Amino acid sequence: MSRERTRTALVTGANRGIGLETVRQLDRAGLNVVLAARDRARGQAAARTLGSAHIRIEELDVTDAGSVAACARRLADDGVAVDVLVNNAGIYPTDAFFSLGEDTLRHALDVNLLGAFRTCQAFCPGMAERGYGRVVHVSSGLGALNGNVPSPAAYGISKAALNALTLVVSAAVPSSVKVNAVCPGWVRTDMGGRAAPTSVEQGADTVAWLARLPDSGPSGGFFRDRTRIDW
Ligand code: NAP
Repeated sequence: MSRERTRTALVTGANRGIGLETVRQLDRAGLNVVLAARDRARGQAAARTLGSAHIRIEELDVTDAGSVAACARRLADDGVAVDVLVNNAGIYPTDAFFSLGEDTLRHALDVNLLGAFRTCQAFCPGMAERGYGRVVHVSSGLGALNGNVPSPAAYGISKAALNALTLVVSAAVPSSVKVNAVCPGWVRTDMGGRAAPTSVEQGADTVAWLARLPDSGPSGGFFRDRTRIDW
């Protein structure tokens, strides 16, 4: 990783979709980036498409506390401080409420909520100590409670909980660490499908913007298209 690049961002679930595009945008913006993927080979293949010398690949399954701890340890051992954490890894179960099995709900919570919980616990204390941090939770308007029924059931519940976690973490860290959630819109990825109106570049734009907020920037907010929205 280059010396002149002073900040390092870690993006979870970064081997495709919005995560990979966020890596691309942050690399272009001059950050060192840790492309974290649960499958190292898929991470390496994705990184090759970007062709940057400033991207490090890390194996990280956000559902596995041991995997999160091992990744944090490898980075610390190599002197890599994570200044920016993008919790992007996500799954999208579509079961309606009365068809929803407990295992499906548990898995959605494990990836979409507990994944972010685990990485925040691993990386936010270092940010607080060093006096700089940016945390971005890639959430969804489908988890907003404002006049909405969070849906589909497991997905909506998990993203509503991720929004709650955003506020809890932002209250737990000093003001030098900004913690925000983002709805990327309905984005053309494997998850969003081909009919989605938003390009992956546009979907990742607000993610990358929140990852690079100035010291005067907001914390504890929910954003879409760089604009604050209701929870
Ligand atoms: P995607 O193309 O399906 O990519 C999801 C990523 O998450 C993949 O890299 C996947 O890795 C990874 N992932 C899944 N489980 C994981 C785990 N246990 N540990 C680590 N990584 C894991 O989805 P996307 O559209 O880019 O979505 C990214 C984020 O945006 C998600 O949080 C999603 O909920 C949110 N979002 C998307 C949309 C949309 O319209 N696309 C709208 C609102 C919010 P593998 O390749 O190994 O499966």
